[in-house]
Amino acid sequence: MESSWDSVYADIEDLLAPQLALDTWERTLYYHLLRHTRLKGIASAHFAVGPLSTGLPISDFKVREVLRSLDAKGCIRIEDRSRHGHLIHVVLPSELPVLVRESREAPDIDIEALDFFSGRRYVEALLARQDDACFYCLRVISPESCELDHLVPQAERLDNSFRNVVASCHNCNKAKGSTSVVDFFRTRYRSGLLSEGELQSRLAVLAAIQSGELVPDIHRLRG
Ligand SMILES: [Zn+2]
Repeated sequence: MESSWDSVYADIEDLLAPQLALDTWERTLYYHLLRHTRLKGIASAHFAVGPLSTGLPISDFKVREVLRSLDAKGCIRIEDRSRHGHLIHVVLPSELPVLVRESREAPDIDIEALDFFSGRRYVEALLARQDDACFYCLRVISPESCELDHLVPQAERLDNSFRNVVASCHNCNKAKGSTSVVDFFRTRYRSGLLSEGELQSRLAVLAAIQSGELVPDIHRLRG
């Protein structure tokens, strides 16, 4: 038996409904079936389609469709169909091994709020995001010797998020100054440090970083 309906309700909202992509009707019907089975201490009960459709209210056709879909998703098991209606076994979230539970102990880290510049705390994650190459000239760099660089200079906007901090070699860091990133890529290209293809791919990576698509993996362990 479930000891706490609080946790059942939380599991339905946090795990079952989102992970099995329950729509409004599936949710509504599931709660209704739950009310008349598990909440009474029984696992299965007979449900006639007529009263279900009147109570919700939706058409008989829709009730059958939603029941089939809940059955397919594993939230219920239709054990029998007879003149009494459907014999329905209602499954609790704790009985569905397919649901993924995140460890409750893991601290929630809001990566958007992390400072990737101060203290070089995430330098390894930043380097991994760049395949251990200088963001501007693609020379190989290391966590010990690389510089951290703001895409949009600090003077213009204080932004130490992963969307604005990259790792670079010492030369690029010194040379970039207040030049805009795109212009600076072009100087690297003109100096022969980047090929035409590399310039194009740098611009694509730049866009991915600034849009937040390329998130550094801060949990990554490097050996
Ligand atoms: Zn460089």
